[in-house]
Amino acid sequence: MDSKILDGKSLAREIRNDISKKVNELKEKAGITPGLAVVIVGEDPASQSYVRMKEKACIEANFYSEVHRCKESITQDELLGLIHELNHNPKIHGILVQLPLPKHLDEKIINENIVPSKDVDGFSPVNFGNLFLKQPGFVPCTPKGIIRLLKHYGIQLEGKNVVVVGRSDIVGKPTAALFLHENATITLCHSKTKDLSKHTKEADILVSAVGKANFISGDMIKEGAIVIDAGTNKVGDQLVGDVDFEAAYDKAERITPVPGGVGPMTIAMLLENTLEAVNKR
Ligand code: NDP
Repeated sequence: MDSKILDGKSLAREIRNDISKKVNELKEKAGITPGLAVVIVGEDPASQSYVRMKEKACIEANFYSEVHRCKESITQDELLGLIHELNHNPKIHGILVQLPLPKHLDEKIINENIVPSKDVDGFSPVNFGNLFLKQPGFVPCTPKGIIRLLKHYGIQLEGKNVVVVGRSDIVGKPTAALFLHENATITLCHSKTKDLSKHTKEADILVSAVGKANFISGDMIKEGAIVIDAGTNKVGDQLVGDVDFEAAYDKAERITPVPGGVGPMTIAMLLENTLEAVNKR
């Protein structure tokens, strides 16, 4: 592999192999099989594809896997009923509701109703608060995967200027919090940020989580920066990130590819969090 590339795919593979061994031990020694329930509402093709990948990863790691495919027309009360059932199901250690949900469903209320001890995505208010307070809890998978990837490659975080573009609760905000806990200096940018490239050009580590292809151009990147592309965008039938890869590659010291960077790390962290849920119980 090219030495500039931060290879999330192979690190995720290593982590998943390790998890699979731990799961087999857990089954043998304690008779416990980690169980993950994934809930998906509607037919969004991207969401369907993410859920299939998660299901495949669970099965490969010898987890017990349940996928609840709900009709687009499911009501908030029906979905909450399903969440409550899963909260009480002893075979299930982790619950994940694939986002985004259709407009008539309130993501905030749904996430609030996942019991924190099974909230392996880390989106419930308790886990989200714990993250910002630096207390134990489940850390959202994509941000956790980004930090793990950087640490694996021995990239120093302390004292670095980190610029995160995108402030969602799923990626941007928790990523900023994790970098802060690593003693980096954080700039969190969003759609109302003035003169975005002035900020991005200051970044020792630049993270993009926007969801727009070719959004980060080569001239927005400082020479020698570390570039983390969390974006996943479909262009025709190709999956691309937010970063203009060719142009960024020339400037960057290290860069994540799309696919094969942050995406596989997210799935590995989901399995890791589910195993952690078993151990916590
Ligand atoms: P959201 O749509 O929730 O957030 C996008 C963010 O980008 C918002 O904070 C928005 O700002 C900001 N933004 C939009 N336009 C601009 C602009 N012109 N300048 C600066 N900031 C801008 O997306 P998510 O965080 O859920 O996802 C981001 C990307 O990451 C997507 O491509 C998604 O598919 C991908 N993703 C990848 C995962 C993986 O495993 N690799 C997992 C999860 C997501 P504002 O808040 O002001 O609107």
